[in-house]
Amino acid sequence: MVTKVSLKVLYIISLGHSGSTLLGNILDSHSKCIHAGELISPVTKKRRLVCMECIDDPCPIWGSLITQKDLEKNYSDFVGKDIISKAYKLLPLRRKNIIYDRILYAYPAKSVLIDSSKNISWSKYNVNNCKKKFQYRFIFLKRDVKAVFASYKRGYNQNVGDRLPYLNKSISKINDFYRSLSAELKVAVSYDELVEKPEGSLKHICDFLNLSYESDMLNFESMPHHICGGNQSGVIQKGTKKAKKLDSLIDFKTSADQLSYYSNLKGIKKDERWKSELTQEEKRNIDNTVTGFDF
Ligand SMILES: [Zn+2]
Repeated sequence: MVTKVSLKVLYIISLGHSGSTLLGNILDSHSKCIHAGELISPVTKKRRLVCMECIDDPCPIWGSLITQKDLEKNYSDFVGKDIISKAYKLLPLRRKNIIYDRILYAYPAKSVLIDSSKNISWSKYNVNNCKKKFQYRFIFLKRDVKAVFASYKRGYNQNVGDRLPYLNKSISKINDFYRSLSAELKVAVSYDELVEKPEGSLKHICDFLNLSYESDMLNFESMPHHICGGNQSGVIQKGTKKAKKLDSLIDFKTSADQLSYYSNLKGIKKDERWKSELTQEEKRNIDNTVTGFDF
């Protein structure tokens, strides 16, 4: 029997656009894991809560087991706000936070819930609220900052000079947080290794979580993933009609390039679009300016 204390919440910590949705969905395909998605997203961005699998069809989790109201009630201090560093320390603890409980208790075969919000303050706030009920662990997902920046450039037309200071600040926060955690609570995973040799990276993660390795994780695309937030790649792979429906629900416009890239994507594949999307100057600028992860 699964006791409360054997249940784990696993936080993915990374820069945005590092492949956290992909990693979460791969782990979601393990019989003991459930990926809830980027829980912070419908809370702080005021983006309508939509399951990335079900879109406008009824979902067993989002909108039924957990509603937008549940999220707003449990995270009322965060609603509509960008989390400012350390602000979580000022927030009152809400010992009745029920989001993780409801999901894990509704799926008794699962013992690890993955929250891919990526935000350090969000994780700390939730750990403070739930540490008596759950164990917690952290996966640090590292990706080449050139690939990360290319995603910002592609999606939001951002300038390298404007984005780099933010990226450096975030990397420095992630480095500090990594150092602050004891060894048994954390594992570092490289995006490149994950997509080039998924079996090796996934065995390492399973060892860390005390789970046996399951090769089904490599077939993650063939399974449903009821996640909120995160990127749209999985939805686009299910068809452009679904992707357009999602766009209309969250008031977003997926670009033609994104539609074409993800529609043709099969399996776990390394995304190397940045190599042709970035100018030589942008690549040099990033290599010379970015401090990088120190783990
Ligand atoms: Zn769903």
